[in-house]
Amino acid sequence: MTQAPSDTLSRRHAAIRRQLAARELDALVVTSLPNVFYLTNFTGSAAIVVLTAADLFFVTDFRYVAALERTRGTASQCPGLELVRVDRSYDEALAFLLAGMSQGRVGFEAAHLTVARHQWLGSALARGGSGVSLVPTDGLVEQARVRKDPFEIAMLREAAARLSAVATRTLQDVPRGRTERDVAWAIEARLRDAGFEKPAFDTIVASGPNAALPHAQPGERRLIEGDLVVLDFGGVYASYCVDLTRTVSIGAPAPRARDVYAAVLEAHDQAIAAVGPGRSRFDIDAAARDTLGRHGLAEAFGHGTGHGLGIEVHEAPRITRRATSAGPAGASDADERVAAGMVFTIEPGAYIPGWGGVRIEDDVLVTDEGVEVLTEVTTELLEI
Ligand code: ZN
Ligand code: ZN
Repeated sequence: MTQAPSDTLSRRHAAIRRQLAARELDALVVTSLPNVFYLTNFTGSAAIVVLTAADLFFVTDFRYVAALERTRGTASQCPGLELVRVDRSYDEALAFLLAGMSQGRVGFEAAHLTVARHQWLGSALARGGSGVSLVPTDGLVEQARVRKDPFEIAMLREAAARLSAVATRTLQDVPRGRTERDVAWAIEARLRDAGFEKPAFDTIVASGPNAALPHAQPGERRLIEGDLVVLDFGGVYASYCVDLTRTVSIGAPAPRARDVYAAVLEAHDQAIAAVGPGRSRFDIDAAARDTLGRHGLAEAFGHGTGHGLGIEVHEAPRITRRATSAGPAGASDADERVAAGMVFTIEPGAYIPGWGGVRIEDDVLVTDEGVEVLTEVTTELLEI
C-alpha cells in the first residue's frame, strides 16, 4: 500500500513539536486514530502516540508489533519511533510511560479521551507520586491536517480520479426498475473494483420523493420513469476519503425538475468560483446559498455547502453559514479563511418534501492560484 515517506512524517512531527513548544507542553498524548495514522502511517485499530520534543513513543499491543516491525527499513518507516508494548491495558502502559517523565505538562486530546479515562490516568499518575500534569488540548493535530502536504494531495488527486471513473460508468447505466439498494450495492462493488479499500460512508441512492431527505438510506423503492435520483458515494483510497454526488433523471425530466436542477448547478458553480486562497469559507457558503435564494429555494437548502476531506470523510474546514451567535454549536471566525492545500467538498442541494431533491457534489483543492476541481464528471442532467 502507498504510504507517506519518512521525510513527510518528519515534517509532520516537526510541525506538531512547534505547536507543543508554543503551548509550553512537554508532550502530547495522541489517542485519535486518524491522528495516530497521520503521524506514523499506522492503520491498525489500537495505538497511542506520545510525542515529545525528542521522541515519538508508540504504544500498541502484540497484534500490531509484528506488523510494525515489518515496516522497519522501508521508505515509509516512521522516523524516531520507539515501541512501547502493552502488557495489560493501554491506559496502564500510558500511565507507566508518563510517570517515567517524572514531571512536566502533558497535553491530551480533549475531544478524544473520555472523562473516565482522563480521571483514571490522573489518579494513576498521582498515586505514583508523579509530578506530571495533564493539560487539555483542542485539535492540535487536526489543525495541521487541514492543509494537505504534497503526498496527501497526490493521494487525494488519485482517489478523486478513480472515483470520477466509477461515477462516469455508473451514470451511464443506472438501471430503471431496480431497487435503490441494488443500485447502491452495485456502486460499492465498483468502488472495490476501482482499488478503493472500502466505501467512505454508506452509499446513498435516493429516488423520487425519497430524495427530499439529504441522508436517505437506500431501500426497496424501485427507480421509475420520471424520478430524479440522487447518487452520493465515496471511497477510501490509501486511507484518504473522496466523496461525490450526481443527480440523474429516469426518462425525460419534468419542467420543475429541470428548473430545480439548473438552480442547484448554478449554486454549485458559483460556490466553486468563490474558492481561492484567503477567501472566507462563509462567503463560499453564501455564494451557493444566495444563488438558491434567488431561485426561491433558500428554504430547500438545509445543510452546509461543504466539508473538508482527508483521513476522515468529514473534517475541517466546514463550508457553512456564519454563526449568528457565539456558542458551542456556532462556527468560530478564527479559522475563517481557506488556504492553499485545503481540500473540501462543494455540495449544494435542494430538498422539497413530497417531491424530491437534487444535490451536486464535487471535491476541490485550494491552490496558490485559485481552485482545482479534483473530481471530473459531467454536471449535465443525464436522462437514463
Ligand atoms: Zn457525498
Ligand atoms: Zn459530502
